[in-house]
Amino acid sequence: MNPFKLKGIWLKGNLHTHSTNSDGVLTPEQVADFYASNGHGFLSITDHEKVTRIAHEKLVLIPGIETSAGETRLGYGYHLVVLGVEDEETIQRLRRSIEELIDFVDENDGLVFVAHPYWSGLTIEDLIKLKKYIGIEVYNTGCDVECAKGFSMVHWDGVLAHNRLIYGLAVDDAHRYVSPPVDALGGWVWVKTETPSAEAIMDSLRRGLFYASMGPRVDDFSHGDGFVEASFTPVDRVDLVSDNGWGLSISLEVYEKLREMLEAKELKGVSEVELNVEDEVEELYIRMGDLKALVRKTMDGFTYFSVKNYGFKKYFRVELTDGKGRKAWINPVFL
Ligand SMILES: [Zn+2]
Ligand SMILES: [Zn+2]
Repeated sequence: MNPFKLKGIWLKGNLHTHSTNSDGVLTPEQVADFYASNGHGFLSITDHEKVTRIAHEKLVLIPGIETSAGETRLGYGYHLVVLGVEDEETIQRLRRSIEELIDFVDENDGLVFVAHPYWSGLTIEDLIKLKKYIGIEVYNTGCDVECAKGFSMVHWDGVLAHNRLIYGLAVDDAHRYVSPPVDALGGWVWVKTETPSAEAIMDSLRRGLFYASMGPRVDDFSHGDGFVEASFTPVDRVDLVSDNGWGLSISLEVYEKLREMLEAKELKGVSEVELNVEDEVEELYIRMGDLKALVRKTMDGFTYFSVKNYGFKKYFRVELTDGKGRKAWINPVFL
């Protein structure tokens, strides 16, 4: 299901963060105030092994907990974020059997995603053998600023390549908030929901009706029968990612080079390239065999692309990167 084609409202939120109830520096109330005053619409405070219960007038609070469970191939524990289940005693009791724990959450209308796979030293196999979780953190701000292990795209594509649809979430996992290295407001999810309630947001998360971002916003996204298009706030790079060596990428650097070569009539080996300039908007058409691609560029970067007749077989996903290296990830489409 495509969230961009459904009715509802877009709400921004952080689903993994800590308070003084575990090892965070802000009280639960301060954490909620912090996110409310920074434009978030929902929040889950996910203290270690403890459910933090709190309400806030401007934020939808989703009960959550981060639990360390099971054992990975390298002998570490998985860190799981559990949302919507408040029975922390049972969660504690089931920690040794990660399968039983996830089953319990599933049977009690909660949901699970796997925290920071890169930071946890997870292998693709560690992720494949677990079932019934909705996704992984493709980005974790805390793990990024602390030890450069924030991004987990390799883990994500590794699982997708096994024909398992899991979603990508961006989260803060904030502990320090505003003291350096700042570990807050680096990643979040935009969820399409019918109503601003914890149940409705969790339902959208389960159905993949969201996208993850560190900055770029996606305005629209369509796909069907060899076709995909998206429009978004200005970015420096657009990537279509698929399994094995399949994919397509265009960066501003490549674009400028193509433009130069086109103007100097030096282009060889590309079947067809055409440039249209109107006011301050440029459109570049590229045709390679059956494939037709179009990118639109404004003064600030790319704002649109479309691809017809792509050759992807299993799945594809869209990844955008802005001039500051901040990414956005649209959830994968299986073919
Ligand atoms: Zn963790
Ligand atoms: Zn955490």
